[in-house]
This record gives sequence, structure tokens and C-alpha cells, in this order.
Amino acid sequence: MADNHTKEVRSLNMSHIRSINSKPEEIVRKYLFSQGFRYRKNDKKLPGKPDIVLPKYKTVIFVNGCFWHKHDCPRFVWPASNTEYWIPKIQRNVDRDIEIHELLRNAGWNVIVVWECELKRKIRDEKLLELKNKILRGCDNA
Ligand SMILES: [Zn+2]
Repeated sequence: MADNHTKEVRSLNMSHIRSINSKPEEIVRKYLFSQGFRYRKNDKKLPGKPDIVLPKYKTVIFVNGCFWHKHDCPRFVWPASNTEYWIPKIQRNVDRDIEIHELLRNAGWNVIVVWECELKRKIRDEKLLELKNKILRGCDNA
């Protein structure tokens, strides 16, 4: 009995920690699920393995880190050192994003990008609502 209790407390603590440190894509997934959307995760059959696929709405969502995908926002700054490594690496990501989005659009998918910085606590609710409306309208925006 004492053991069970410990286990329970431990798993409670863990889930609490997890919810604080939720990965950006998990924040978006949780929200969509709570709004009744059903999705596939990291669909390997689609170009770029989109984080979230909503077949019913013919929509894919990428949740992008501002640094890795060179978002035009204050979170992106070129690293000051090791530039021979970072510049081509990040540029490759950017080129790949463009290519993947085009492939998906040509195949009839709406492509939506959610940026990590849009999930800051202060603006998250508003941004998630915008996302929901985009999905429902079926318009693309990347
Ligand atoms: Zn950003």
C-alpha cells in the first residue's frame, strides 16, 4: 500500500513536470484534441513528416522552432561562433521547408506553420484560436 502511494505521488509529480515542459507540438496537439479535432502524428508517408495531420480538413501542421527554421522574430539570431557550421545547416532547413511545403500544397494539402514563439503563455490562447479558425476555413498560411 505504501508502495502504491509512492508510485502515485511520483507519477503525479512526473505528469506535472511534463505539463510544464510540454513540447510545443504537444501544446498544439492537446489544444486541437480538446477542440474535438482528430489527427495523425508525424505521418511518415507525407513529405517532411508533418507534426500534425488532419485528414478530414486536408490540413497539415508543422510546429517549428524559431531557431532551427529561421523565423523572422527576436528568437532567431545567427550564432556568433561556428558560423561555417550553422549558416549552411540552418539554410538547408529553410530550403527544405520551402520544398516540402510546395510538395504538400501541390498534393492538395493546406499547410499551416505554428511557430514556437506563438506559444508563449501570454499569446498562446489567442494564437491557438487563430489556428483553429484557419483549419476550419481551410485556408493556407505558412
Ligand atoms: Zn519566432
